[in-house]
Amino acid sequence: MYDRKLEKSESVSIIEDPKINVWNVEPSTSANNCRNFIREIVDNLDLQPNPEKSVIALSIGDPTVYGNLKAAEETVEAVKSALVEGLFNGYVASSGHQEAKQAVAEYLSQNDVQIDANDVILCSGCSSSLEHCITVLADGTKNQNIVIPRPGFPIYRTLAEHIGVEVRYYNLMPENNWEADLDHLESQIDEKTAAIVVNNPSNPCGSSFSEEHLRNILEIAYRYRVPVIADEIYENLVFPGEKFVSAASLNSGVPILVCGGIAKRFLVPGWRLGWIIVHDEFGVLNNVRKALNSLTQRIIGSNTLIQGALPAILKNTPQSFFDSLIGTLANNAKLAFERLQSTEGLTPFMPQGTMYMLVEIQMEKFPAFADGLEFAQKMMEEESVFCLPGECFAIPGFLRIVLTVPEDLLEEACARMMEFCKRHYKH
Ligand SMILES: *Cc1c(COP(=O)(O)O)cnc(C)c1O
Repeated sequence: MYDRKLEKSESVSIIEDPKINVWNVEPSTSANNCRNFIREIVDNLDLQPNPEKSVIALSIGDPTVYGNLKAAEETVEAVKSALVEGLFNGYVASSGHQEAKQAVAEYLSQNDVQIDANDVILCSGCSSSLEHCITVLADGTKNQNIVIPRPGFPIYRTLAEHIGVEVRYYNLMPENNWEADLDHLESQIDEKTAAIVVNNPSNPCGSSFSEEHLRNILEIAYRYRVPVIADEIYENLVFPGEKFVSAASLNSGVPILVCGGIAKRFLVPGWRLGWIIVHDEFGVLNNVRKALNSLTQRIIGSNTLIQGALPAILKNTPQSFFDSLIGTLANNAKLAFERLQSTEGLTPFMPQGTMYMLVEIQMEKFPAFADGLEFAQKMMEEESVFCLPGECFAIPGFLRIVLTVPEDLLEEACARMMEFCKRHYKH
């Protein structure tokens, strides 16, 4: 007979037995290896703003935070329609809805590249695209490495190290518009190198590579037979007079996984829609392509509502919207560059696109500060202006300035930075 009471008292005795009641719940190694390098650095700073001055954050890489930059009406309309139609409430293929893939293929084919819908994989933001690409190419259990840019976006390191893949840096050269040091790049590659990451246009540099420079990078990748992961989330976000060149448009023979999405150019980072384009002239990525599709099954694909809206987002968002966004960013870049160039002790580097600018601190002129971290912290304390220190991007002694803030705030921030430098500059 079933005796509930007995069962209950048994279970109570188990709970009370300290020898049996040993819980040992620990996060996995891969979870423990997952680090947010920006947070680690920023959390270690003592950020106390000056109570007399309102805080101006030139640190947040989200163009929507100040409310001055908004998605186009057409972009918003596209989601409204998809929602009301009610056709995108269910699951679709985990690599993406066919029509949405077709729309991405057409959208990107405009830039001298012919892309087929079957070369497109939709992901949950470009970060997820990058995660798939690093995971599919690099094997931690085989001691493989990936080669990434310095300065660069810290997520490549986060994604690689968390699966036991080593990262190696190749230097970008500030005095050459942040072009890669090709000899240095080459010196980092060995037989364990699974991929080279190229971020163009670049966060945090704001640089946009010329066709010739991209060819030089791809030539090295070809020589060593190393595939390229091209992070092109800032595609076409370049200032007037500059040209964006996609790595896939050069037909270099190098297999390339291009990562992109709508987060930055369409000003909707929270919508979490990214893509991978498998660019494979010689069919060397057939197995990788299959494995990428398998990886998308881990989360059964990205948000289908945004996928449903994607064809209309990509077709209807007018050129005038992009022109206006670029105009604002270029103006802000010019303003910040001029102000900071005339600030003793700082050397700004004029970007060619994106939403960022790097500024070098001539540390020897500021003996009061041990390093750029202390400089950034004191600037917050005295002027309530915060920029991410270069340490977040593996380039100490620099600051990254975000150019998406409203013009009057940027102007005020630059004026305060100038005062701060004047106060601490030593001749
Ligand atoms: C913002 C950013 C991403 C991530 O984009 P999401 O679509 O928001 O995931 C990827 N790469 C770089 C260089 C970025 O600046």
